[in-house]
Amino acid sequence: MRILVTGGAGFIGSHLIDRLIAQGHEVLCLDNFYTGDKKNIAHWLNHPNFELIRHDVTEPIRLEVEQIYHLACPASPVHYQFNPIKTVKTSVLGTINMLGLAKRVKARILMASTSEIYGDPQVHPQTEEYWGNVNCHGIRSCYDEGKRIAETLCFDYYREHQVDIRVARIFNTYGPRMLENDGRVVSNLIVQSLKNIPLTVYGDGSQTRSFCYVSDLVEGLIRLMNGEYIGPVNLGNPGEYTILELAKKIQSLINPSVELVYQPLPQDDPKQRQPDISKALKYLDWQPTILLDEGLDMTVNDFKTRLSK
Ligand code: NAD
Ligand code: UDP
Repeated sequence: MRILVTGGAGFIGSHLIDRLIAQGHEVLCLDNFYTGDKKNIAHWLNHPNFELIRHDVTEPIRLEVEQIYHLACPASPVHYQFNPIKTVKTSVLGTINMLGLAKRVKARILMASTSEIYGDPQVHPQTEEYWGNVNCHGIRSCYDEGKRIAETLCFDYYREHQVDIRVARIFNTYGPRMLENDGRVVSNLIVQSLKNIPLTVYGDGSQTRSFCYVSDLVEGLIRLMNGEYIGPVNLGNPGEYTILELAKKIQSLINPSVELVYQPLPQDDPKQRQPDISKALKYLDWQPTILLDEGLDMTVNDFKTRLSK
């Protein structure tokens, strides 16, 4: 098949492309390199089944493809808050453009939504039926509301134009190729431990997250794309940790003598997050297989290699 991956030079997109090319597909990687890195896809640049397109999804594009994985959007709070209006445009205009493309060429499109659509959730763990608790004018809103309207657009194109959609709600995902300056918690804590800089814990560290290793997530995306269930479906690892537990785990794994420092909790930081993955299990026969300790080992090794260069 000929498959378009928007945001393909980013963290998740580049791992997805590795799998798609290994399966023998032809892959078009579209990216504006805002948070993507050519290094993530450099190993495919001369491969006959790979094509790189520098393009911004906020502008329309004409291509002939059979499937679209629409991942283009900065995912780290640091990056999506840097230019919040652009983040909204990327989610809204970008998703309209990709749905329009899918409609024109009759491609199936999978949109990468997020656990952030649940906001600061009052239902725990989060099921797909929960409508969420999102502040519509806070510093996270450009991302949260952008992804909520992206979901709305998918379902309206499905109802109005029978576009063949799939909607994945991705929970915190980590692994090799996260940027050194990504700003998300796993990469921050690993880079700080390796550089012997105090580990930054925001707030008292009692807020929770559930961390999914990237290969598990990619498997879930591929199953969703190629199955009959359109979603929305939660994809994440139900193993839930406080941020303080995570910091101590990374500290003891890499650098037991490094200190922890407490910094202010950012506005609207969700207090708890854990996916209910019953639907993924039922409809995709999917569940994560990589334990946090194993995944952290692989991620730490990747950062060690990159930081030593
Ligand atoms: P990432 O920042 O590494 O990748 C995003 C990619 O999109 C980058 O390569 C970036 O350059 C590209 N991009 C951004 N704006 C663009 C635009 N206007 N036009 C073209 N390309 C653009 O992030 P990621 O972690 O790989 O996330 C990928 C997708 O998954 C995002 O849509 C994100 O919202 C979603 N997601 C990720 C997580 C996670 O924990 N990693 C959780 C929930 C949802
Ligand atoms: N966090 C932290 N230290 C950091 C970066 C993040 O304590 O250096 C916290 C952050 O406040 C949040 C959690 O870790 O409670 C996850 O943050 P991240 O930015 O990775 O993802 P998100 O908040 O979008 O789930």
